[in-house]
This record gives sequence, structure tokens and C-alpha cells, in this order.
Amino acid sequence: MANKPLILAFFIFLPLCLSLPLPELPELPRVSPFAFLNDLQGCKKGDNVKGISKLKNFFHYYGYLNRRTNVTSYMNDDNDVFDDHLEFAIKTYQQYFHLNPTGTLNPETISQLATPRCGVPDIVNGTTGRLLFEHDDDDDDDRVHHYHLPHVVSHYAFFPGKRRWPSSKYRLTYAFLPSTRKDAKAPVTRAFATWARYTHFKFSLTTNYKRANLKIGFYKGNHGDGYPFDGPGGTLAHAFAPTDGRFHYDSTEKWAVGAVKGRYDLQTVALHEIGHLLGLGHSTVKNAIMYPYIKSGTTKGLNADDIKGIKVLYNRR
Ligand SMILES: [Zn+2]
Ligand SMILES: [Zn+2]
Repeated sequence: MANKPLILAFFIFLPLCLSLPLPELPELPRVSPFAFLNDLQGCKKGDNVKGISKLKNFFHYYGYLNRRTNVTSYMNDDNDVFDDHLEFAIKTYQQYFHLNPTGTLNPETISQLATPRCGVPDIVNGTTGRLLFEHDDDDDDDRVHHYHLPHVVSHYAFFPGKRRWPSSKYRLTYAFLPSTRKDAKAPVTRAFATWARYTHFKFSLTTNYKRANLKIGFYKGNHGDGYPFDGPGGTLAHAFAPTDGRFHYDSTEKWAVGAVKGRYDLQTVALHEIGHLLGLGHSTVKNAIMYPYIKSGTTKGLNADDIKGIKVLYNRR
């Protein structure tokens, strides 16, 4: 056997290699958690491509794909088959973000999907306030193409059941987790001041984190609330509907105060997440603060759509 000396050399040197410290490798660029989407470009119904199951999980998480097909059964979609359900989810997503609803993973859809965003689902229990999945009751067949594509009304939305603070509860205290980075406190405080200008709420800072109505902190990975962060890129932050009060930044993101190239503005993200704390869901209006996507290196303020939304939610003019 010609290879024998080579194999022997391998077994002689292997233990030696294992005992040596590994040479330092150059730091590789960190890959976005949404990077898998780039391999799915051009995919369409009928394809079977590695990564489709991940996309299904993504759509399930953000509310575009409902595993419950009817009252009694769940679909098994832990596979890489591009099926009717996925095509429908993509069309819904495309409608939501004003893209051509082709149901295929064309470049503009992939580019939108891969953009870092808020971790709060766009559709909760099949609804975003006005965006509703209608079912054709005349047909006892539950195949997905009998669900009509939702008619997307382009404006603000609420959480299911219009979750909001009771009218007596307009003085809300907020506190930072003790480990919070110092440069985040002023931008978050300014974001509260902005919301106070357009609402009946009065916000005040307290040092009593436990008792505060609104709790702000930086976390990474799995941090115990059932919505783990995913590292740099992907999900940037999330907040809970009233009257929960939790607002979390992903500490692994590149944060900044103001518009800094390649970084996310702490204040812009705070404005968005405070909108959730007060009861706003995601808006389909691109210029609204409640739009789920944010570009790095930019800042954004409240939009007429956000102000109208919060006024409607609390029955104020
Ligand atoms: Zn959000
Ligand atoms: Zn969290």
C-alpha cells in the first residue's frame, strides 16, 4: 500500500498537533443570521433547496406562515420543499412590503428579507389590525389556495385585542437595567420625550428597575423571554405589547448615537420599540417609525401615520 507511510505519519503527528496551541486565525467577517437567504435567490414553487426549511421557520416566526391549517391539524413543514403554503406566505410578505406579489424569491424580495429588522412579528394570530386572512367558508377543503391574499391597508396597526394601557395609567416610569451602556440613556430619554409630545403619556425615569412600568436593557442570545437574539444583523431589538413593559436591544449589534455609517441609531430604535410598549404594531408605511425595518447609518422620527395610530388606539383627537 503506497499510502501506508503517509497514514503512519498522520498517526504519529496527530497527538503532537493536538497538544500544540492553535495558530491565531484572522478574524472572519461575522455572517448575518439572515445570510442563508442569499442561497435561495430564484427559488419558486416545486423547488427543493437546502435552506427552505429555515425560511419557513422565519415566516412562521414573523407570522406569515401559520402551521395550524385548521382547528385540528398542524402542517408538517420541517422540510426543504417549496410548497403552496410557502408561496402564499411569500405573496403575503410581498404585499405587506409593497413588492410585486410573484410568490417567488426574486432579488428584490431576498434583499428585503435579508435586511436587519425588529424582532416583533408583523402578523399576530393572522392579523395586523387591518390585515386579515379571510377564509372561503363555502369550500370545505382547507388547501391554502382557498385563502385569499390579504388586502393590505397601508397604515398603522395594533396588537390583537388592541392591547393598551388603561386610561388611568398615563404616568409611566421607566428604568434601565444596571448593566445598560451609558451612551444609550440619553437617546432613550429623548425618544420618550418625543412620544410624550404627541400622546397623553407622561414618562419619568426611576432607579427602581424592579418596580418600573417600562424596563430597558441590552441582552444577547437566549435571555429568558422566549425570543432569543441572533447575533449581529438579523433581529436588532424587540419590545412587548402593553402592559408588559419590556424593551430589549440586541447588545451584539453596532449601535451609535445619531447617523453613523454601518451602525444603528439608538434613538430611532427606541422610538420604534416604545411604540410597541404603548400598543402599536408594525406599520406598512415605509416612513413610519413603526415600519419593521431600519437602515444603518440613518435616523428617523415619528411620522403622521404613527401619531394617527396612537391617537386612534387611545381614542384621542
Ligand atoms: Zn417592531
Ligand atoms: Zn428580550
